[in-house]
Amino acid sequence: MSYEQRAVHLRAAIPEIPAEQVLDMLRHDDAVLIDVRDAEEVKGGLPEPAQHLARGQLELNIHHLVDDVHRPIAVMCASGLRSLFAAESLINLGYTKVFSVRGGFKQWKDAGLPTRVPQQLSVFDRERYSRHLLIPEVGEKGQLRLKSSRVLLLGAGGLGSPVALYLAAAGVGTLGIVDPDVVESSNLQRQVIHGEDQLGKLKVDSAEAAIHRLNSQIKVIKHPVLLDESNALSLLQDYDLVVDGSDNFKARYLVNDACVKLGIPNVHGAIYRFEGYVTTFAASDEAPCYRCMYPELPPPEMAPSCAEAGVLGVLPGVIGLLQAVEVIKLLLGIGRNLSGKMLRVDALNNEFSMLDIDKAEQCLCSHHRDEIQIKPIEAFACAI
Ligand SMILES: [Zn+2]
Repeated sequence: MSYEQRAVHLRAAIPEIPAEQVLDMLRHDDAVLIDVRDAEEVKGGLPEPAQHLARGQLELNIHHLVDDVHRPIAVMCASGLRSLFAAESLINLGYTKVFSVRGGFKQWKDAGLPTRVPQQLSVFDRERYSRHLLIPEVGEKGQLRLKSSRVLLLGAGGLGSPVALYLAAAGVGTLGIVDPDVVESSNLQRQVIHGEDQLGKLKVDSAEAAIHRLNSQIKVIKHPVLLDESNALSLLQDYDLVVDGSDNFKARYLVNDACVKLGIPNVHGAIYRFEGYVTTFAASDEAPCYRCMYPELPPPEMAPSCAEAGVLGVLPGVIGLLQAVEVIKLLLGIGRNLSGKMLRVDALNNEFSMLDIDKAEQCLCSHHRDEIQIKPIEAFACAI
């Protein structure tokens, strides 16, 4: 059968729908619109509600976009011919409700239907993040999501160092850093973002230099201030997510209260000698928060004198990177996160254990967000 004969045959076999009808299908029938044109072709624009999956990738990757074979799929190309062949392939794969959009993208545009210009990674970024692009759960869409994400790191110390370096390497586009301190020689045993040549300099400056050596495209926003009740909300409000690597209880309560009020997830890490803890306070209605675990600031005599207690230098590397993994998953909306769970790491005995965190009924996180006030918190330092 010649190409023309096959096309005639397909036109008879594959249901075609006019572009104007597609929006109705998307709205009322939970349909999905797939634009199968090449990457070059969609650079100029594609239907606003369409997912792009180039013809050459269709059979391999369609299950990532549509896992229910009975979900209606409208396939679109430039003029409505390639989409017939693509639709035939989908039917052969077992999809039961496949349509071809008559007239393709040309018809869509002529009808004045909504379009968008897709964000795309540059050639350099494609190479740089190629190992991410190979993972279906990340892919180009996920990498673009990371690029547009804004993460605030509370502290550029033991935990903040590995988090900042790995998030920068992974392509998280904007990193804010809150830290009023300067680099001291006792920091270098674990705060690997700083070096000897940065001694005496502000940690935010030192961290920025290291981040830009690794990835010059990352926007670093420096906040060389102490987090307190007067600035917590304004510091946090422009970020998608906060990483708490703070070294004192006051900051932990403050960042918790502000994150709950603003609805921003908080990835929390803490370290003590050979032990570390990681959890995510998701800031959703069902999720517990830091105060659900510790309703009140512990009395000073109960809190360890951390400068004396010490910490194994590599432990914040382990805990910080577990936080970084949480961050990436949360930003991409993939996998299972640590909301409601506390991962405890005992490095001395090689034990990883998971503890449950229950939501406390009377906790601040059960209040309406508007009612939450950011109050002063009695401070005492825990300076690991
Ligand atoms: Zn709570």
